[in-house]
Amino acid sequence: MANEVPSGSSNASATIGAIAALGMLAAPTAVSVANAQRGRAPRTAESAEVRCIGASADTGAAKETRPGTRKPARTPGLHAHPGDVEPAASRLAEGEMRAHYIDVGQGVATLYEFSCGVVLVDTGGEVNGVFDSDRALENYLDQFFLARPELSRTIDLLVLSHPHIDHAHGAPLVTSKYTVKNVVTDGLLKDPHGQSYSGSEQQQALEEWAKAHAKLETISTKKVPKGGKTDGVIDPIACAGQDPQIRVLWGASEEQPEGWSDAAFKDANNHSVALRVDFGKASFLTTGDLEVDAVRSVVALHGTSHALDADVWEVSHHGSANGTNQAILDAITPQIATLGTGDPARTTGGAFTAFAFGHPREDAVDLILGSLTRKRPDIHVLAATGQKEFESIDVNEALCATGWDGTVVITGRGDGTYSVQTER
Ligand SMILES: [Zn+2]
Ligand SMILES: [Zn+2]
Repeated sequence: MANEVPSGSSNASATIGAIAALGMLAAPTAVSVANAQRGRAPRTAESAEVRCIGASADTGAAKETRPGTRKPARTPGLHAHPGDVEPAASRLAEGEMRAHYIDVGQGVATLYEFSCGVVLVDTGGEVNGVFDSDRALENYLDQFFLARPELSRTIDLLVLSHPHIDHAHGAPLVTSKYTVKNVVTDGLLKDPHGQSYSGSEQQQALEEWAKAHAKLETISTKKVPKGGKTDGVIDPIACAGQDPQIRVLWGASEEQPEGWSDAAFKDANNHSVALRVDFGKASFLTTGDLEVDAVRSVVALHGTSHALDADVWEVSHHGSANGTNQAILDAITPQIATLGTGDPARTTGGAFTAFAFGHPREDAVDLILGSLTRKRPDIHVLAATGQKEFESIDVNEALCATGWDGTVVITGRGDGTYSVQTER
């Protein structure tokens, strides 16, 4: 829980603790794929070496290198073969887990890695003439499993937050290439007028597949009590030592909740599965694409239970203006936040890009930055003032975005400390 974190969370100038200088990410980079598709050479090993954030100028904190974990940088991605990846380079230390916010362009795919298994929440992403999230996701997962061969390419739980294509696109790929043991969805395939959503086809196919090949649970909000819901499908992970606790905090609403507009009820975003991972004193929360009507309901449901009080928040709806309000920030009190967005500088690719949507929106970014209690080295990035309208901003609070940073990997420890690595 955020309030129990011993690493200085109450200190507004605290930096991200216990920096682990692990060299580059073990898995190849989505940006390498994108570069290749643009006909450019992949980034060199040197330039692609990840930067750890948190060694801020105000403390001059030295990076900590843990014995046996630092590996020389390697050329990332495209031509990786088994010999390119040393499992030891990405092996978790005892008492660690990782959340991999994979760069799938405009969309979400988040891999939670534990010592004995993994959970994948959403499958991306942005697929157009200039970016292919399926290839980015497959490359990343392939390299991940090369580094963790004992997991036998098995995903213990696959969650689709909701049936929009920027979350559901890669679901057929995932079930065809990897072993999936449990599936959680919101069970929603059509809006109240009988219209399908952009990812209904993929979600329906996944649910049909899961009925035959895995265990399936669909999350209805009326089955989610204050504090959240868990069971053997939602939390199939049972690791020796520090065992993660996984629960869902939201799902589909069959009946229109009080206070919701008709448009909000019709929008699949508001029926997103929200998921929380606790790992000792470390905590991670993802709220799908929930917008403000549903955000109000989620805050009202969980109220004083502290179920929303998490250290690391994957921000609702890609940092859209309608996904964040002060009430949910006050409930979460995040130290670190992440955004699943495409590169806002990618101005081609059509309607389903960060550029076309105007993600992340500067108003939401400002609100989030005002709540974060951790710092990162200053970056100069783009935030939107409207659709296709961006301006440069400086960020030095611990907000990471896949569209700014590439893949973001956050290591959490049972003692409530965190390290962050970014691809660029
Ligand atoms: Zn989305
Ligand atoms: Zn959505």
